Amino acid sequence: MVTRFAPSPTGRLHIGHGWSALMGQDLARELGGVMRLRIEDIDGVRSRPEHVAGIMEDLRWLGVEWDGDVVFQSARLALYDAALGTLKAQGLVYPCFCTRAEIAAEIAASGSAPHGSDGPLYPGTCRSLSDTERARRIAAGYSHCWRLDMAQAVAPVGPLTWVDMDHGPIPAHPERAGDVVLARKDAPTSYHLAATLDDAEMGVTHVLRGQDLVAATDIHRLLQALLGLPTPVYRHHPLLGDAQGKRLAKRTGGISLAELRAAGTDPGKLRADLRAGRFPVGIRILTP
Ligand code: GLU
Repeated sequence: MVTRFAPSPTGRLHIGHGWSALMGQDLARELGGVMRLRIEDIDGVRSRPEHVAGIMEDLRWLGVEWDGDVVFQSARLALYDAALGTLKAQGLVYPCFCTRAEIAAEIAASGSAPHGSDGPLYPGTCRSLSDTERARRIAAGYSHCWRLDMAQAVAPVGPLTWVDMDHGPIPAHPERAGDVVLARKDAPTSYHLAATLDDAEMGVTHVLRGQDLVAATDIHRLLQALLGLPTPVYRHHPLLGDAQGKRLAKRTGGISLAELRAAGTDPGKLRADLRAGRFPVGIRILTP
């Protein structure tokens, strides 16, 4: 049994991350397995070395231990690029040259854009470019990301399910996410591709992560099918929010583990509280 805690080093950990990591450690111990630590640092601008150090310091302070070497996604770009090459060879991805503004304008003009869990779907502008036009733009140095041609990808695969640790098989609907980005303009991969490949390559059997990523699990299940990867089982835990019901984010101050520590919090008591579902004043579990 292998699980993992996979923070992005774009800030210090907040109490929700601490809760998630602690649940991961407890699950690994309960099942006689291990918990790995993976630093999701493909965003070269927002990821910072000082946050990596901060994350490790915060976890150690809380008493969360990870097993084995820490995995850094920034050191594994060749692995992701090879998988993208496999999907390119199958004709399942295409280069997209659109800017955010162009996508927004296209959606506004179309009137009735279909929505996924993260907002309006990509309208498919670049899907219909000819091979010649794609090659011309790439040769001319136009910046581009790579998108999955969702309709082409799902058709031959057929219905997919993933297994929820507590609720059993769940039908996957990756098509609801549209043509997702598999390699960003600024990185040869995206969260979806990197996380799916790493979970497989690290031998992860149990993925524990926040409820905000349920729709991502559908996409990851499809990528597993396309790339011939094993599929772990999943548990999505609720998110924590403030008194106004707003999700905790790295940017919102006041509830980072570093601040709790600076305020003299006893980590043993905090662990016991988190395990019992007791949170600091003003913090509560959000209902999905
Ligand atoms: N890096 C993601 C985050 O910090 C977690 C991804 C995952 O667990 O799959 O939200």
